[in-house]
Order: sequence, then structure tokens, then C-alpha cells
Amino acid sequence: MRHAGVHIYRGNIVFTPTPQDFVALARGYVVVDGAGVITECLADLPDRYCTVPVIDHGDRLVLPGFTDAHLHASQLPITGLQCNTELIDWLHTLALPQEAALADAAYADAVYTRFAEDLLRNGITGSIVMGTIHAESTAVLVDKLIAAGLRSCVAKVSRDQNAPADACQDTAREIADVRHFLTQTLARSPLVTPAVGPSTAMVCTRKLMKGLAQQAAEFDIPCHTHLAENRAEVESTLQQHPDCVDFLDTYQRAGLLGTANAVVAHAIHLNDREKRAIRDTGMLVAHCPHSNLNLLSGVMPLAEYHDMGIRVGLGSDLAAGHALNMFANMVGAIQSGAMSYLTGRASRPVPPAEAFYCATKGGGSFFGKTGSFEPGYAFDALVVDDSMWTRHQPMTLPQRVEKLIYCGDDRNIDHVYVDGRRLR
Ligand SMILES: [Zn+2]
Repeated sequence: MRHAGVHIYRGNIVFTPTPQDFVALARGYVVVDGAGVITECLADLPDRYCTVPVIDHGDRLVLPGFTDAHLHASQLPITGLQCNTELIDWLHTLALPQEAALADAAYADAVYTRFAEDLLRNGITGSIVMGTIHAESTAVLVDKLIAAGLRSCVAKVSRDQNAPADACQDTAREIADVRHFLTQTLARSPLVTPAVGPSTAMVCTRKLMKGLAQQAAEFDIPCHTHLAENRAEVESTLQQHPDCVDFLDTYQRAGLLGTANAVVAHAIHLNDREKRAIRDTGMLVAHCPHSNLNLLSGVMPLAEYHDMGIRVGLGSDLAAGHALNMFANMVGAIQSGAMSYLTGRASRPVPPAEAFYCATKGGGSFFGKTGSFEPGYAFDALVVDDSMWTRHQPMTLPQRVEKLIYCGDDRNIDHVYVDGRRLR
């Protein structure tokens, strides 16, 4: 039979193939094949599809699903607590004790069940997540994301120095635990993949980072870590690794972050060498604007990075960031962009389409072709009801999405699809 398994979705389709502008199709069609892959987007439906039923979402918006490019699942319960504290204090008084509590399997089960529910409700179809140092409870996180049907990359966190006893472990045991986690989770699902996660170079020895690099290469999996978040942290990191020329070098000398298959969170305080190396390897930078201000870390110049060709996604950095609402995180990126521009760190502000791009195609590129509605992309999508605003104010489709970015939240998200499968 022709078109077996094909689905056609109708609605007001908006996406960003480039950071420059929204592409909008009013009452258009997205054609999705039996494998959940988009074959085309059309303004009108040609006769050849006359036998395929159309799933009509009416006047609602159909948008690519969001990718949260950096967040800590274990920190969900401490969201919104103790913001306005600098990173190292915040870690020692709040975040690390919270992470230690995830050693308890029953607690991990409860927290990670809620975490997967919250991702789905917020339309976060893709997530690049850190667990904790605990291999078993981080495997529970993998289970919950697989059960939810969400796309994700889950890193087991590694530390072997400069951290409280319950937040780090002996180097050899840590390397063995990472191997156990990877072998346990590697082939579980095509949607959820494991990663190595050196917490940050200050809390990892060279020996540990070399061990993680070796396993990332052996299993062909990503590395997810933090980079140049806070000035005091940058100084301590270089004291810890005195042979390194800068923060990025601490990873590079261990053989980490040498390929595009990597994500670094924050990347605020970089020198020109680091910026060029990030661009040249093609790794993803996770821009975390809420967290960067909450922990007084600094402002990442998104426009500068985009203009020099660095790949950028948008991260909530839960729970240094206070919101899983990706619309609010987009506003954070726009407002941080304004600060970069006003303080002379960037040559232009960040428009809403560019923030939307980061939250969709930018971060989605980590998983391959997700985050856009171009042919060949996975149909990871949101159906959004903004009728409470369109009733009173005629708007173009890009204006409707701009309004949604500034005023929207999970209550606007009616349906969520991953790989063409409706999850909600
Ligand atoms: Zn983080």
C-alpha cells in the first residue's frame, strides 16, 4: 500500500532552520513517514496524499520540541532555593548534599519519576542530563526517561578529588563504576544514550579524566561537562592543573572534548584560543542564562559565539537555573544577550528567533536531526494552544511565537510527540 505508516499533521507550523528568522506555514502540513521522520512540509496538500488521513490541530501552533542542553536531574527538589550564591558555596552548602541523597534508591526513584513527568509537561522532548556519582541511581534515571518515551543523553557524574567524601570516590573505583553504568545502559534504547560526565576539571584528577576519555572513545559516547562557569572556579582549576594553559586545556590534555560528540555547559570566561578550539571541534555549548545570573557567574555572549560559528543549545541548568519552562529560558537568553550588547561584549542583541533556534535546532543537533521540521528530521513536536491571546489581538505567526516565548508556559502545551509518537 502506498504511504503505509505515513501521518500528516496540519496546523500553524513554525520553526527556525537558521538562527536568523522564523519559517511559518499558516494552516500548513507536515508529512511524517512510518519511522517518525519528516519527509516534507507543505502549504497545500497535493492529490497524491488524498488517501492519507490528516490529523488536524486547527488554529494551534505546531513547533519543534525543545532540547534542554544541560540540567541536573537530581537537583529537581532544590529548584528555586539559595539563588544569588556563588558557585562554590552553592555546591558545598546545597547541591552536593542534595546529590549525595540520591544514593538512596527509593528516593532516586521518586525524584526521577517526577523529573521525567516535568520534562514531558514542559515539552522538553530532548534533554542532555547529568545524574549523580551513583551508577545505580543514574541507571534508574535512564529507566524513567526510556519509560517516558523521551529523547535524552544521561551522564553519570564523576569526581575523585576536592569534594566531600559522599560526593566523590577513589579513582579506580570511579572508572570501574563508569564502565558498569555504560555497559548497563548502552543498548537499552535508541532514544536514551549514556555519557561520561566529569563534573568539572577542579574535582577530577588527570588520571580519572584520561580513564573517562578512554571509555568515551571505546563506547563511542559523548562527554558532558562544565567549562569556565565562574572566575574563582577557573583560578582554582588552573591551580589544580598547573601545566594547562587554560580551562579547556585541562580536558584536552586528558583526551576529552576532542570531537563534536561533546557538550560543555556555561563556557562564559573563555580566551580566544578556547573559543576557536570549541568552534573547530564542533562541540555543543549549553548556554544557561538563568543559572549564570542566579549564581553570579557572568554573562555568556551568545551573539558573539553564534557569529563566529560556535554551536549553541539552551540549558535550564536545573537547579542553579530556577525553571524548566523553556519559554522562560529563551527570555533569559534574549535578556542576557541584551546585557552582552549593552556592556560591549557582543556587537548586537539576540532576537527571539535566535533564542528559539537555540532551544530547538541548536540543542537538538546534539541528537542528530532533531529540533526542526526540515526533511529528514525526526518529528519531535509540540502542539501549542495560544488561543487566550489570539482572541483579542490579531497577530502574524512569528508574533504569536514571540508572545508565547515571553508569556507562555507548560499550560499552553497540549500535545508532545517524539519520533512521531504522541506521548501526551
Ligand atoms: Zn550544571
